[in-house]
Amino acid sequence: MKEIKIKDKEFEVFIQEEKIREAIKVIAQRMNKDLEGKDPLFIAVLNGAFMFVGELMKHLTIPCEISFVRMASYQGIKSTGKIKEIYGLEEDIEGRTIVILEDIVDTGHTMSLILDQLACDSPGEIKVATLLFKPDALKTELKLDYVALEIPNDFIVGYGLDYDGYGRNLADIYKIKS
Ligand code: 5GP
Ligand code: MG
Repeated sequence: MKEIKIKDKEFEVFIQEEKIREAIKVIAQRMNKDLEGKDPLFIAVLNGAFMFVGELMKHLTIPCEISFVRMASYQGIKSTGKIKEIYGLEEDIEGRTIVILEDIVDTGHTMSLILDQLACDSPGEIKVATLLFKPDALKTELKLDYVALEIPNDFIVGYGLDYDGYGRNLADIYKIKS
């Protein structure tokens, strides 16, 4: 079993690149069917989604656009704590078919926030795609249209996902050793 260390934590290989790429290809093929003639705008959430998106795009054969955003935290007024907001979206989404591309849905809070914020700009429809989904961690009501891989509730790195900024470059997905 391939093992690595990132900073203070040890990880072991969990999902190999070939399997990840195959799972992405499957959802791309579904998107090619579902979104044909809809001129979709894909909105990829950086940083984590970059490898997922790179692989997905290679298999999309329909006309589409892609835009990259970030969820940036800023300190709310007074003691309301951190507020996360979409940053970097320049396209007009009114009336359009939107597909959000995320690295992972864990509790679902981030995705719910993104959906709420985009809904304010009157898109035609919004679909949600994620590379990874932890069903046991979900705490919000969320409809996920495209899930490449379901995983258990363990902390993972690789294929775009990081531990404290590191590990995004790993081609396989690793899970933390317990
Ligand atoms: P949620 O809002 O669904 O709880 O999670 C959102 C964010 O938490 C993800 O976009 C990701 O940045 C981070 N996250 C959740 N689970 C993991 C994990 O297992 N590994 C890594 N690297 N990040 C995670
Ligand atoms: Mg993310």
